[in-house]
Amino acid sequence: MLNFTIGPVMCSEGVCAVGGEQVPYFRTPEFSNMMFENERLMLKFAKAPDGAKTVFMTNSSTGSMEAVIMNCFTQEDKVLVIDGGSFGHRFVELCEIHEIPHVALKLMCGQKLTENELYKYDSQGFTGLLVNIDETSTGVLYDSEMIGDFCKRNNTFYVCDCVSSFLADPFNMEHCGADVMITGSQKVLACPPGISIIILAPRAVERVQNAKIRSMYFNLSSCLQNMERGQTPFTPAVGILRQINARLKEIEASGGADKEITRVAAQAEDFRRKIKDLPFAFVSESPANGVTPVRPMNADAYEIFLTLKDEYGIWICPNSGDMAHSIFRVGHIGYLSHEDNTTLVDALKDMMKRGLI
Ligand SMILES: *Cc1c(COP(=O)(O)O)cnc(C)c1O
Repeated sequence: MLNFTIGPVMCSEGVCAVGGEQVPYFRTPEFSNMMFENERLMLKFAKAPDGAKTVFMTNSSTGSMEAVIMNCFTQEDKVLVIDGGSFGHRFVELCEIHEIPHVALKLMCGQKLTENELYKYDSQGFTGLLVNIDETSTGVLYDSEMIGDFCKRNNTFYVCDCVSSFLADPFNMEHCGADVMITGSQKVLACPPGISIIILAPRAVERVQNAKIRSMYFNLSSCLQNMERGQTPFTPAVGILRQINARLKEIEASGGADKEITRVAAQAEDFRRKIKDLPFAFVSESPANGVTPVRPMNADAYEIFLTLKDEYGIWICPNSGDMAHSIFRVGHIGYLSHEDNTTLVDALKDMMKRGLI
């Protein structure tokens, strides 16, 4: 199997090996120490400010998006949501479900967020801003620093969903002033799905500790309290936390977060160069490194996905909703090489010869 989707992605041999081991009991000092190491490396790689805390949630990243909405906002807030695709729209829906007053800043498919567009919402009393730094459905990378400046100016609580951009695109949590950053195990962390990680800057820790929430499982204050001793309130996905530990140490040993970001950027650049002569159009105005959405000029995107899977053993990522038949996505995250890109592009060229593209 050769997997170019954007999660779950290919895991390294080291991460796969840990996945084959027995899963240990976890209320132990050994597990706690591993969790402290996971926290230390996560904070370092996110360039989090002093006093930031990490919680490891056993849920997909949508669960963490929801937990953040529930623990950081109330009906007294007024939240601006950058709604440029299906992940931005998920934040809008979460605000609706939890009755958080909000305004959606809608963007067209592939459109980037300009300073001009954002500053139309300046000085309007927004207390929170929600953005998916890489809007993975369209591959648009938003400017975390530019949005951070807006939030500082407006004293706005700043939530960054970095689910697919953490370790793929440069991100400096302290410098951009993000209060919350969310990511997940199955994207650039290249582990199986099941764990999502939330980093809370001091201002977010304070909000969470003062929140009155009606949920046992999504009580982030209780997660923080447990994490003081390297534990979680309930049984976590122990095996995946061990795989995350192996992966974080691999990244550290091979030069750290910036090195990994450079590697993903080169993987994306190599693919984009290799498909230049194929009858495809690029979609994103401001492409993120983790994924390339592609619009086939003369073929159905979903058919291309099916043929590659069934006849070539290669997985690319179909889109959902309106974009299912017009756009497919190729991921550059996980354990992939430039040779793997060549294998995919050769398959696409072969399909072109067969008149399928
Ligand atoms: C994948 C992704 C999510 C959701 O992740 P799940 O683990 O499927 O819940 C959220 N936001 C972004 C930007 C993503 O890429």
